[in-house]
Amino acid sequence: MFTRSLTELTILLVDDDKAVRAYLSHLLKLAGHQVIEAADAISALVLFDQHRPDLALLDVVMPGHDGCWLARRLREREAGQWMPIIFLSSRDNDEDLALAIDAGGDDYLVKPVSPVVLSAKLRAMCRLRVMQDRMQELSEQLSATNRDLQHLSEHDTLTGLLNRRGFDVRIAYAIAVARRSKTPLTLMMCDIDQFKTYNDTLGHPAGDVCLSQVAKLLEQVCRRPSDVATRYGGEEFVLILPDTPKSGAMTLARAIRRVYERAALPHPASVAAPYVTLSGGITTCVPNDSTTVEGMLKRADEALYVAKSKGRNRFFSFEMQVDSSVSNSEFLHFSQDAHPADAPPVTNAGQRLNSDL
Ligand code: GH3
Ligand code: MG
Ligand code: MG
Repeated sequence: MFTRSLTELTILLVDDDKAVRAYLSHLLKLAGHQVIEAADAISALVLFDQHRPDLALLDVVMPGHDGCWLARRLREREAGQWMPIIFLSSRDNDEDLALAIDAGGDDYLVKPVSPVVLSAKLRAMCRLRVMQDRMQELSEQLSATNRDLQHLSEHDTLTGLLNRRGFDVRIAYAIAVARRSKTPLTLMMCDIDQFKTYNDTLGHPAGDVCLSQVAKLLEQVCRRPSDVATRYGGEEFVLILPDTPKSGAMTLARAIRRVYERAALPHPASVAAPYVTLSGGITTCVPNDSTTVEGMLKRADEALYVAKSKGRNRFFSFEMQVDSSVSNSEFLHFSQDAHPADAPPVTNAGQRLNSDL
């Protein structure tokens, strides 16, 4: 970040009088500054754009555009930065001073300027400039901290997934988008089977590691950019799956089951399988004005309850339960025999069917 030394400024010196320029330039260079000189306002603007000086010393009365005009143009070009502008004028009256300050000047000195006064004014301006730079630095640090805090407040530290708060933000957005685009939105509530037993058998620290592994696998399953895996709480995860009809959700559910089967994270005390498994409750709808987050969560939770009560390691769709066209496969069992003959292969987790809701 920019922190200027008070002795190494680049100063834009604008005066149509060559002798004045030579004199001031000599003084400034003696004080250790770098000087860029312009004899008129237009060439001063060109030099400003090229060099981005730290400070400008402007004559007021010049042929063509005067110092006040130039100060206004310089202020327009600053783009968030502030460059001290000191006017050097031969006019010693209050009105001219007021006009120059209104045009964007920070100070107004009457020529001839004493070297001591000029040097003191430069130091004062530099002090303000350094202070402004510090404030900008602090403001950038504050913005970065706020971004970090925002991230922390919406993410779970153990798994890195969005936490409940992050879920609330994303689901509200997903419902709004799906409502507008009239596309199906699926919510999948996943719960690790017999996780209390896992902790009791392998210990709580191992349980924490397991939660992280489960989260990573879920993230891998969520391959579409708009899919989101969240840690809803404890050993419960909710997947937000935009533009996903109920059959597509089933495809994904089968893929999830296969992913955990392959990962084979040992869960010796589970009654569902010798490895870590999930049960899931699915709900799918094209949101309308009466759709609420609470309503969707309630349906997903009810479906999850059914999946648990039917033996775990399976997903149940709330809507398919009442969908007569799929009544004979009301429960989604994950044995190969139970798959419908035309079910897509589980490796196609990224492909979702869009032909139904
Ligand atoms: P079910 O198959 O019916 O879901 O049984 P369950 O044992 O998984 O469910 P239950 O609600 O009885 O227990 C959930 C367990 O998850 C209990 C709790 O200690 C554990 N758990 C929740 N959060 C964490 C965590 O952050 N770390 C660890 N290690 N365990 C956790
Ligand atoms: Mg559980
Ligand atoms: Mg639970």
